[in-house]
Amino acid sequence: MRVSEGRVTVTVPEQPEAGKGADVFFNPVQELNRDITVAALRAYRERTPRVSTYLDATAASGIRGVRAAANDWETTLCDIDDDATALCEQNLERNDLAASVRRSDANVLMHSEAFDVVDVDPFGTPIPFADAAVQGTKHLLCVTATDTAPLCGAHFESGVRSYGAVPRNTEFHAEMGMRVLLSAMVRTAARYDIAARPILSHATKHYARTYLEFDHGAKVANDCIDELGYVHHCQHCLWRDHDYGLIADPPEDCPVCDKHLQTAGPIWLGRTCEPAFADAVSEQVTEEMGTADEARELLATLSEEIDTPTHYDQHRLCKRWGRGAEAMDEFIEKLRDTGYEASRTHYGGTTFKTDADVVEIREATAE
Ligand code: SAM
Repeated sequence: MRVSEGRVTVTVPEQPEAGKGADVFFNPVQELNRDITVAALRAYRERTPRVSTYLDATAASGIRGVRAAANDWETTLCDIDDDATALCEQNLERNDLAASVRRSDANVLMHSEAFDVVDVDPFGTPIPFADAAVQGTKHLLCVTATDTAPLCGAHFESGVRSYGAVPRNTEFHAEMGMRVLLSAMVRTAARYDIAARPILSHATKHYARTYLEFDHGAKVANDCIDELGYVHHCQHCLWRDHDYGLIADPPEDCPVCDKHLQTAGPIWLGRTCEPAFADAVSEQVTEEMGTADEARELLATLSEEIDTPTHYDQHRLCKRWGRGAEAMDEFIEKLRDTGYEASRTHYGGTTFKTDADVVEIREATAE
């Protein structure tokens, strides 16, 4: 099967259901993820002109690395599987591109060599690659996680085991997953006196993706750790709050309805995205990308998202309150008119962020 993405055309095996059992894995649904990766690589090179080397650590067909090579990155493609690396070679040749192909365990490679940018896009959780990836990255670590059920607390024990944090299955589950992933990556980097700060992150129901910029030093790593903390959440009235620090300090019960609160953490409470970088990435989305419109729309929403650690869903709130939902723009305008900050989020069409709490939202948006 031939697939064209961006400037390249690659061959990938026909994929049985959900890619399971294929000789080499390929997921067409990840085209948006790959288009944004290419745009992010272009924007990152403008931001940090000295970067030149890119490792596609779990390459499969090589489509990500081939696209990086087509954008003039000095690229290395790595996969543990013989069929995958053979296909990477063919796909480079087909596009008349040169890159280094390694049949290796990515952990071994990343422990022995460092690259300006490392991309870890594995099956499921990236955690088995996290320590080596931190050591093998000089500037930017790009990570995908597709194990959304453990990340967001739907598979609680698995989430605790993989990420060393308590995830909770809340109505802001995709953001919970993103912040659990970021917490684990930040704590991994901190072990090596590295601050890993997300400059771009996006989540869908299928995966979480983040781009972490590195800064070296114990002091900056401590500053990053200071942005970890806990979210306390009421399943009944949907009130929530957060506190910073590695020791959870939850209120005893929900201050609004007196019901039991659930606590999740330590999660990343800091920014998940730099608005200026999201704008710079958007400028690098070009027409040859199959998901250009979707990518630009996503990046615009990311750039506008206000900086709070959880989001709400208007429909869920209105259902709780026994009233009808309304157009998102009007709903957000009511919050702003009352003096609160408010924005849509990329987590869903009816989601929003605000600095108002759940009682204030209800009052501000009443008829
Ligand atoms: N990045 C690819 C893309 O955009 O199409 C998809 C990668 S696929 C989800 C994961 C790949 O990781 C598989 O090809 C698998 O063989 C490879 N893999 C699994 N364990 C590995 C390891 N320890 N080192 C290197 N590659 C590994």
